[in-house]
Amino acid sequence: MPAKENNTFALSDFTPYKEKKGEEFMGPEMKAHFKSILNNWKSELMEESERTKVHMQNDAENYADPNDRASQEEEFSLELRTRDRERKLIKKIEKTLELIENDDYGFCDACGIEISVRRLEARPTADQCIDCKTLAEIKERQVGS
Ligand SMILES: [Zn+2]
Repeated sequence: MPAKENNTFALSDFTPYKEKKGEEFMGPEMKAHFKSILNNWKSELMEESERTKVHMQNDAENYADPNDRASQEEEFSLELRTRDRERKLIKKIEKTLELIENDDYGFCDACGIEISVRRLEARPTADQCIDCKTLAEIKERQVGS
C-alpha cells in the first residue's frame, strides 16, 4: 500500500467552488461547500486511522522471532506517529468545523482579511492568509536556525 500524505488535503472527489458574481464571502452556500469538504476529509482520516489500528493489532500476534520483533517495533513506532498525526489533524478539522458554525471561518487569524477560496480548498484548515503564513514561516526558520 503506498504511503499516504495526511497533512495535506487529498480528497479525490471534490468540485472547486464557483463563486457567483458579487457573492458574499462565506455565505451559506460557500460555508456548506467547505463543511462538506471538511466532513469528508474527516471521515477519510478516521477510516485511515481505524485501518492503522487493526493493522497493528494483527501484526502484534504474528511475530515470535526476536529479529522480526525489532523491525516490527520500528514499524510500530512509525504507525504510532502516523496515528498521532491523524488524531491531531482530526482535532484541527473539528475545530475548523466549529469556526464555520460560528461564522468565523475563512478569515486570516493574523490580519483579518478573507482567505481566498482557492487557498482554502487546497488547505481547508488554513487559518492565515498566504502572506501572513509566508511571513510566519520565515520567522519560524529564523528562530530555528
Ligand atoms: Zn493575513
